[in-house]
Amino acid sequence: MLELLFLLLPVAMGYGWFMGRNSIKQKDQNAKQDLSIKYSTGLNYLLSNQQDKAIDYLIEALKVEDDTVEAHFAMANLFRKRGELDRALKVHEHLVRNGNLPTKAKQQAIFELAKDFLTAGLYDRAEHMFHKLLKAKPYQLKSLGYLMQIYQSTKDWQQGIALKKTIFKLKDKQLLHNLANFYCEQALEAQKQGEFIAVIELLEQALVCDAKSCRANWHLAGVYEEHKQYEQAAKCYRAIYKQDKDFFPEVIEKMHSCYQALDDEEAFYNFIKQVYDETGTTSTLIKYLEFLSTKYGADKAVEFLLAALKRRPTIRGFKHFVKLQLANESSDNQSESLDVIKELVSAYLKMRPRYSCRSCGFNSSTHYWSCPSCHDWEQLKPVRGLEGE
Ligand SMILES: [Zn+2]
Repeated sequence: MLELLFLLLPVAMGYGWFMGRNSIKQKDQNAKQDLSIKYSTGLNYLLSNQQDKAIDYLIEALKVEDDTVEAHFAMANLFRKRGELDRALKVHEHLVRNGNLPTKAKQQAIFELAKDFLTAGLYDRAEHMFHKLLKAKPYQLKSLGYLMQIYQSTKDWQQGIALKKTIFKLKDKQLLHNLANFYCEQALEAQKQGEFIAVIELLEQALVCDAKSCRANWHLAGVYEEHKQYEQAAKCYRAIYKQDKDFFPEVIEKMHSCYQALDDEEAFYNFIKQVYDETGTTSTLIKYLEFLSTKYGADKAVEFLLAALKRRPTIRGFKHFVKLQLANESSDNQSESLDVIKELVSAYLKMRPRYSCRSCGFNSSTHYWSCPSCHDWEQLKPVRGLEGE
């Protein structure tokens, strides 16, 4: 009897192994069947235009594994392109929640999800996500850029400045330029509180971030003038010319009143003449004509202006020419017609924008430090050419 039992043992083992193998196969089979049910249900919903339900089923069917991650990103991308942000969000959230994702894919999912939040205007959630990526090398710079964009929209200058260390480490020019403008904005707030020393310190910090920020020098000059420190203010105006020749026409009048306070108009006109020789801008030309008129008489000024207009005609220059002619004219008849021409040109110039954004081409009659269209800082500058400088 015992022998029979021994004889049956290998048979039992064989049977056990066979049944076990079958049960694993069965489980696989079941899982596959389950997926294919979910997949076909998803497709059915998609075809019957019930897209939200379809996505739920398709996400379930497409298990997140190494080889399906790309498919998830592609699906989310497609939704985003079609403007279906909530669906893109759903897929990205699904990826972020998945615990088994490799680091690289996980970071990508967080980054994409942060971008979804940002587009949806959910700034605090986007901010939270981008902060998570500040130490992830491939996303560090981009995340910093988006964070600065968020803080600019929410006017949270302090939070932007808190990123200073990381921005300095990366030495990215655009980010440093943005940071300088954050300091300028904070300086304006300190100015409202009457904190003179803090304002100066903040503006100097702005120049440390971006030595080319003429805005920082513009505000500094204003503060110095307010405190009657005209020498310092004049220095800032001269610095602006070195920083940005295109922007300089904007400061000519302020610079002039500063030198008047210093009782050194000669130095001012010498500087203006030098700027005119170097740039040929209409504003400096008109300013220099004031000097010629006072020192050598109106005829000399007209002569100089005519020669300048022949070399480089501009409508503002022409308007000034008519103005000088009017001042000289004795005959009533002629003066009347010149008056009409002057009015016409003035009306035309008023219609034309005075500033244009060097980044996106946005035109405006008012000056803004941050472009209302592309939000870049310090890009609105006087228009050049026939209708401008
Ligand atoms: Zn712009």
